[in-house]
Amino acid sequence: MDYIEETLKNFSYSVIFKIKTLKIFFKDSQTNRMIQKSKSYQKPPARGSYSSRPKRSSQPSRMPARTTQAAKPTARPAAQAFKQSAQPRRAPARTMQPAKQMTRPTAPAFKQSTQPRRMPTRTMQPAKPMARPAAQSFNDQAQPTLKIMVLGGLEEVGRNMTVFEYGNDIVIVDMGLQFPEENMPGIDYIIPDITYLEDKTKNIRGVIITHGHYDHIGAVSHLIPKLGNPPIYTAKLTAGLLKKRHQEYKTAPLDIQIIDPDKDRLQLGRFLVEFLRVNHSIPDSFGVILNTPLGTVVHTGDFKIDFSPINDKPIDLNRIAQIGGRGVLALLSDSTDAPHPGYQLSESEITEDLEKIFTQANGRIIVGTFASLINRIQQIITLSEKYGRKVLLEGRSMNSNVEIAHELGYLKIKPGTIVEETEFKKLPDNKLVVLGTGAQGEQSAVLMRIVNKEHRFLSVKPGDSILFSSSVIPGNERTIQNLKDSFYKQGAKVFHYQLLDVHAGGHAKQEDLKLTIRLFKPKYFIPIEANHYMLKIHAELAEELGIPKENIFVASNGQVMEFSHPRNSRETIGKLTDKKVSTEYVMVDGLGVGDVSNIVLRDRRMMSEDGMFVVITTIKRKTGELVGSPDIISRGFVYMKENKKLIDDSRALVRKICQDKGKDYAADPMEIKNKLRDGIGQFLYKKTKRRPMILPVVIEV
Ligand SMILES: [Zn+2]
Repeated sequence: MDYIEETLKNFSYSVIFKIKTLKIFFKDSQTNRMIQKSKSYQKPPARGSYSSRPKRSSQPSRMPARTTQAAKPTARPAAQAFKQSAQPRRAPARTMQPAKQMTRPTAPAFKQSTQPRRMPTRTMQPAKPMARPAAQSFNDQAQPTLKIMVLGGLEEVGRNMTVFEYGNDIVIVDMGLQFPEENMPGIDYIIPDITYLEDKTKNIRGVIITHGHYDHIGAVSHLIPKLGNPPIYTAKLTAGLLKKRHQEYKTAPLDIQIIDPDKDRLQLGRFLVEFLRVNHSIPDSFGVILNTPLGTVVHTGDFKIDFSPINDKPIDLNRIAQIGGRGVLALLSDSTDAPHPGYQLSESEITEDLEKIFTQANGRIIVGTFASLINRIQQIITLSEKYGRKVLLEGRSMNSNVEIAHELGYLKIKPGTIVEETEFKKLPDNKLVVLGTGAQGEQSAVLMRIVNKEHRFLSVKPGDSILFSSSVIPGNERTIQNLKDSFYKQGAKVFHYQLLDVHAGGHAKQEDLKLTIRLFKPKYFIPIEANHYMLKIHAELAEELGIPKENIFVASNGQVMEFSHPRNSRETIGKLTDKKVSTEYVMVDGLGVGDVSNIVLRDRRMMSEDGMFVVITTIKRKTGELVGSPDIISRGFVYMKENKKLIDDSRALVRKICQDKGKDYAADPMEIKNKLRDGIGQFLYKKTKRRPMILPVVIEV
């Protein structure tokens, strides 16, 4: 059950909070200029590709170069050149020649070197702005199609995983888990279906993980071994969280390459990958910029725009504008908070709200949050230090995340702030803060254990202030309300976002999203990372900003988006096709992955709804004759003592079904079982209008 605690806490989902205009934002003249400039947004000009004329190399072999040398600006007016040396590589190497009618200067050349696979040298220089690619030349033959398939995250918040495929090169962005729906009893979580990739593992050049939330990293340990252990590229904090989580798995160690989103670039096959620092509720979050021969595709990851983030650098709007200026073929953008108007709160504004609780509380402050909301944890710790309180960390995941983040420098904690149980017990109430998991009402989390008096040494005291510091995952509302009521009954004060703004969502709201679209100026727009209706709302925003409806793809999970450069066209054309790759639920139940099928789930559902009815009969093997009286056991269906008649009637029916088949019948237990299941099922439904799960057991003697 630790899984549930482990997983739920990391979920970041935003709800409506008070809408504040970020005045500071408009004071920024540069930004203003950018907004004005982008107001005249029109359909962008041809922004197909880095001009390319593929030539077959004479040395095909198995070593795809996945390495980058320092991207050097070439002399003007040289064009963007994707040079690949005649290296041994799996796919036939193609040499990209400079575009002839290139007009823009200072384009970097991307070279691939001979280094062995999985050891990329990264350019440790700031990424230079790239030139807008020239129009595709017409003699381009059989250029591969760029395919984008979102395996998870288009019909739910969670299970994020996107596949980018160009020719023989595949780059994957994120590999997350999804929390089970209410009708999936006993399921810990759901991970993406990788059937499509099974016979393509040799083409996977890398997996990029945008940030450390479980809906983006949670499936890594399950899926990476099945994908041939490709290298994982991610930032430092995410790498720490990934490694920690992977310790629970017995599979081979992950091949993690830490990147610096501000500086590094990677050449992953034909994808030149750059990163874009963004803000979110966890530090080290970034978006991904995939430069392909057909154009640039941007994947934002989860993001918000925050000019005063906690322990993090503000998002670089300048850089977004530069990328937009270069030309963006397609923008895949976070839609989690698309339904909400206005601007997202800055993390610093949250600190002010949290501080009110610290100034008012006379007793202990008990905070329930997600262990991955590193920013929130920092705020609580900073305020505790300011108000002379000591912090007790409760919950395994809380302890391990704080340890990792602190070690890597993402949490600033003064010595002596964190206390253990013994010291905690000695301190007066007004000097204490408990920081634990459980703001979603998770069964095994700290808040639940405290309120249910199941905690080892903590129970509610009158005067306690309980702070729920994370948004409510849809579906958890009732559980959380019950939890709050229980705290109130036991004499505590409860604070939640409805009372105080103790939560800033980690996701961009409408005005932030509009700004992002205006700055990137994509030709095609693909809303991602949300339920369908949120994608739809995000799509409408994009349309309002002038992106033609036919260039906005509101796709389903697995629906293939194709970008190609037809010979008769000047530019890259995108298409939301009818093709679909498999995106079945892969359910994780304890240690089992994918072994819980829909049938198992249906049985669990039936049992949880209408209980179980077990019929045990003993028959003679040769004749099928019934021996003795059938046994009936029922659980969660009816109370047997009070329903004697129903049980007796059922027993009589069992007898009848067993005898009906005649004496000369050679016993077929399977057939008897089926008859019993159908017959008893119909009978019980007729009598009770319930459908318990019927479990016939036939013993042959
Ligand atoms: Zn996230």
